[in-house]
Amino acid sequence: MPEHTADRLRGLVAEFLRTHDPRGDRAGFLRARFDAGLAWVHHPPGHGGLGAPPQLQAVVDAAFAEAGAPDNRPRRNSIGLGMAAPTLLRHATEAQCRRWLRPLWTGEELWCQLFSEPEAGSDLASLRTRAVRDGADWVVDGQKVWTSMAHEARWAILLARTDPAVAKHRGITYFVCDMTAPGVQVRPLRQLTGEAEFNEVFLTGVRVPDAHRVGAVGEGWQIARTTLMNERVAIGGRPLPREGGMVGVLARLWRERPELRTAGLHEEVLRSWVRAEAARLSALRLRQLVAAGAPGPEGSAVKLSFAELNQRISGLEVELLGAEGLRHDDWAMRRPVEPDLLGRTATYRYLRARGNSIEGGTSEILRTVIAERVLGLPAEPRVDR
Ligand SMILES: Cc1cc2nc3c(=O)[nH]c(=O)nc-3n(C[C@H](O)[C@H](O)[C@H](O)COP(=O)(O)OP(=O)(O)OC[C@H]3O[C@@H](n4cnc5c(N)ncnc54)[C@H](O)[C@@H]3O)c2cc1C
Repeated sequence: MPEHTADRLRGLVAEFLRTHDPRGDRAGFLRARFDAGLAWVHHPPGHGGLGAPPQLQAVVDAAFAEAGAPDNRPRRNSIGLGMAAPTLLRHATEAQCRRWLRPLWTGEELWCQLFSEPEAGSDLASLRTRAVRDGADWVVDGQKVWTSMAHEARWAILLARTDPAVAKHRGITYFVCDMTAPGVQVRPLRQLTGEAEFNEVFLTGVRVPDAHRVGAVGEGWQIARTTLMNERVAIGGRPLPREGGMVGVLARLWRERPELRTAGLHEEVLRSWVRAEAARLSALRLRQLVAAGAPGPEGSAVKLSFAELNQRISGLEVELLGAEGLRHDDWAMRRPVEPDLLGRTATYRYLRARGNSIEGGTSEILRTVIAERVLGLPAEPRVDR
């Protein structure tokens, strides 16, 4: 097995580019990149990787970007890439990985996450969607809510109760559900911004083959924890350049519109800039830790500060702009797969950032995770395990 070094991987990318035109067919190029092991370099061969150290991914991405090669946008597959893929890699069978990982990485198949239910959000383990075994299939009935991207997704990671007789954390099984299967009904839920990124999903007699079960029956909760820990890193730990994200919009506004400046707000803008930079560097550090192994509870801290900062910065932007900051561009019902945080108005950013402290675990719950699992403070009493 050759040793993986940055130079060797740059060489592999150059060799790949000699035989694959980056300006040709986008999907074909991405499929070939996956097959060459240059998608997720730390994955095993056959699953889009080379078994290389994860830190070398950045080297490969930079070499492709330099050549003007397509990446797996514009159809961003944040749930697929950030949550489903790491969970599948860790817990799914070889055959399941072979079926799902390539079209997930190329963006040809989008994924959504059927976890939350009307009575089971923070207390996710109290979910009631039921899966009952019937021959080679499971029959699923229940309702999910706040399902981002369900209207575009081909596949969903799904938690369902398979044994109502045991303690709630033990009776749950993890499945992959085909969103085009009969009995899956997706209805838009409009948000504060006017658009509907997310949905209610009704599951009525949906047949999920046992071959689409991930892990053992009754072990879904342990597998869901892999998904949730990755979710926090995916939301809060995105790679950003300095002044990337909302703080860049605020800093530009401050520089370009001197008439808006006041002494009090100057202090606030500076404070936010410093916090955003600290959060960006903490996220970078966290991604390095993740590269060295599975994400730990520290992911909760970056997700928490991401949410708090976005709300603080978008509030500051609206305050700076005064009446102008209250002018929303339009309330048209859109069905995006991702919020357009940087391309829309200050009002849009302000309204959409409210959801940041709810999605992917609320700030209250994350504070408890940090208190108990990072700081080692005494746990709150629980009666549900
Ligand atoms: C934009 C957005 C996108 C989302 N996308 C998805 C998705 O794709 N898939 C999916 O499955 N879910 C998704 N969700 C759902 C999200 O994960 C849940 O909304 C979240 O977990 C909170 O659950 P809940 O809404 O039931 O609130 P609840 O759990 O009812 O909580 C209500 C309030 O009580 C607080 N609270 C509850 N329990 C405790 C406690 N023990 N200690 C202290 N405070 C507590 C909460 O922090 C919160 O402030 C999305 C949500 C949003 C806003």
